[in-house]
Amino acid sequence: MKEKTIEDVEKYVQQVADKRGWILDPSKDETYEILVNGLRVYFNKVGYFNCPCRDSNEDRVMDKDISCPCDYAQPDIAEHGRCYCALFYEPNYDFSIPTLEMIAERRPEEKW
Ligand code: SF4
Repeated sequence: MKEKTIEDVEKYVQQVADKRGWILDPSKDETYEILVNGLRVYFNKVGYFNCPCRDSNEDRVMDKDISCPCDYAQPDIAEHGRCYCALFYEPNYDFSIPTLEMIAERRPEEKW
């Protein structure tokens, strides 16, 4: 399998954002870089885009709900304006508000 580069992952997350009607942090700050790199590392290790903020079971089926974009992104963006990792945001998100606080994990605990 061909390894993913940072550029590949950046293209992927932009395509996801465009398709879902979300946006990425326009500043493309350090958090964005860490998340994109985390997706790249997971893909090259397990073969799918495991969520960069969650542990992987290294099993595509078990991790289907946390393959990026995860099943929890849409409800989190609807409720908090951003996904759990703060990679994707609602289109009118106010980036002047610091997003330091974690939002609650929506994934059922038995799947952690
Ligand atoms: S929380 Fe965000 S980055 Fe993590 S899998 Fe879900 S959509 Fe992707």
